Amino acid sequence: MTENLSDMSPNGYIIINLEGLVANWNLLREKTAPGAECSAVLKANAYGAGLEQAATALRRAGCRTFFVALPQEGVRLRKVAPDATIYVLNGLYPGGEELYCEAMLRPVLGSKAELEDWGLFCRKRKVAIPSALHVDTGMNRLGVTMSEARWLANTPEMLSALDLKLVISHLACGDTPNAPQNQAQKQKFAEVAELFPQAKASLANSAGVLLGPDYHFDLVRPGIALFGGNPIPERPNPMATVASLHAMILQVRTVSPQETVGYGGQFTAAKPMRVATVSCGYADGFIRQAGSTDTTPGSVAYLGDIPCPVIGRVSMDVLAIDVSNCPQQTARRGVYVELLGEKASVDKAAQSAGTISYEFLTSLGRRFERRYFHSAAGKGL
Ligand SMILES: *Cc1c(COP(=O)(O)O)cnc(C)c1O
Repeated sequence: MTENLSDMSPNGYIIINLEGLVANWNLLREKTAPGAECSAVLKANAYGAGLEQAATALRRAGCRTFFVALPQEGVRLRKVAPDATIYVLNGLYPGGEELYCEAMLRPVLGSKAELEDWGLFCRKRKVAIPSALHVDTGMNRLGVTMSEARWLANTPEMLSALDLKLVISHLACGDTPNAPQNQAQKQKFAEVAELFPQAKASLANSAGVLLGPDYHFDLVRPGIALFGGNPIPERPNPMATVASLHAMILQVRTVSPQETVGYGGQFTAAKPMRVATVSCGYADGFIRQAGSTDTTPGSVAYLGDIPCPVIGRVSMDVLAIDVSNCPQQTARRGVYVELLGEKASVDKAAQSAGTISYEFLTSLGRRFERRYFHSAAGKGL
């Protein structure tokens, strides 16, 4: 039975272009200030792309330092990257010391309680285990305060127990180059970096890389840009597409004027239409708000080069697209449409759903299989 299932074409699939990922990392590395290191942030299963595959491709390309959010992600990463430096951004979870130590994960310590727990653990072990410090410069999410950072810098017995290799902070408005908060955070962070001359300093996420070299310090930490998201939405996207989503047409129907499509009857046909029902819904991670109503447009799918707007609400397992402009022989049962990809960019799709590329990418692939390819030609299926 399982054999029969695997013979069947899937309802949809996600292609992860690892060449694009590597090209994006290389581009960011070229933009990184001379002397600074370009790392990779692979949290949330590498933004939905697959942690192991992304890490393996990036290691081959020369990436040596990785960031994840959770220790469990770090443990997975360690298995495929035995010699990499791995930081856990969410810090030290209560009782997690042994796990971090065994997998050689470096916690990014973000509160006084974490500093104390890690310091205690290291002293008990009578060995300094590398870690990082997160200092808050305006995000108010994770990180010790400026005054706690000063306290730490002046407490040698604590410092020596921690073996701080890296000090980080995080930009709140990096995606908005003109936001005054960027400059303010950068200045605060420069102060922080001076407090810990023995550690490397890191402030920039993807957007921060594009803000310019004075944001780079010793190490940059891009995430979304590696996966093709546009770090600064008001500028053209310099990144290559990495993830594309293709789903199968189940049937094509004719809808007469004044008939509605989908739950709630939110979309009314103004003229005779051909409507394709596609095997992809919000249970697959396709954001429900990417649907459309009579007054608000939604996401746009592509069949070849022809745009096919999503019409009506996105259901749990299916959605509808307008294929009126497609030849009948192309828009038919069994054909795959591009819901996200080169033409249906994740930024546009996310915008139409009132969200950001980060959320769209990380929610995908609950049900779809991922297919990886490495060929630079952009073909390989
Ligand atoms: C997620 C994250 C990053 C990467 O951010 P992008 O905007 O995806 O490039 C960098 N640093 C920290 C602390 C993060 O949480």
